[in-house]
Amino acid sequence: MDFYVLTLFPDQIEYGLNTSIIKRASEKGIINIKAVDIRDYSSDKHHHVDDYPYGGGAGMVMKPEPIYDCYKDISKDLLEGTRVVYVTPQGRTFDQSMAKEMALEKDLVILCGHYEGVDERILDMIVTDRISIGDYVLTGGELPAMVLIDAISRMVPGVLTNEESGADESFSEGLLEYPQYTRPEVFMGMKVPEVLLSGHHKNISKWRLEKSLERTKEIRPDLYDAYMSRNNK
Ligand code: SAM
Repeated sequence: MDFYVLTLFPDQIEYGLNTSIIKRASEKGIINIKAVDIRDYSSDKHHHVDDYPYGGGAGMVMKPEPIYDCYKDISKDLLEGTRVVYVTPQGRTFDQSMAKEMALEKDLVILCGHYEGVDERILDMIVTDRISIGDYVLTGGELPAMVLIDAISRMVPGVLTNEESGADESFSEGLLEYPQYTRPEVFMGMKVPEVLLSGHHKNISKWRLEKSLERTKEIRPDLYDAYMSRNNK
């Protein structure tokens, strides 16, 4: 899967995604992350990419022309109908099911805003999805773009090894994951739950489901209620 990130801060994307599992997947060519600098497409001699908002008000707005030229340039490599995501606090809140669904795409373009945002006309022209990572405002779209790329990439076949499998995690069944333990068996007097040492797979699964339900009910009653009604309980 190829990700094209249209940004004013390509270094942030390149550094931010150059570690661990995502780095390994990029090196293997399972995913490709191309951070494209919108500023390179500014025709103005000072390379301006923003301007004052019509109607007044605080801050600057990203101009439409450099984004259009940047998008037109990368479009040569894209299939017809490639989705273009604008990350914005005004979008649909990103979740695991969206990550799974987007992992089926061959390419994905992500546009990062900055300052007060982006001229609405270019958004209307090229954007297919507006996605938020939560109800708070960040300075720019680079962190949200990295959040999307990380979560989507984990769902692309071959990115996670069997041991890292994403099948049994929080949200995969609509519940939060059960507690995890590793060695030592006793840490500062606290023992690993007996059932996990028993080797009895059926009992372990039963215990894990109970813990998942308990924890989801306590921390995320919204998810718990949805799970219960889906499973007619
Ligand atoms: N004036 C905008 C508003 O009130 O909706 C906020 C602009 S914000 C300071 C600058 C950029 O950061 C946005 O264009 C967007 O790309 C990104 N951004 C900020 N918060 C975000 C969030 N919660 N989810 C996704 N993108 C976000």
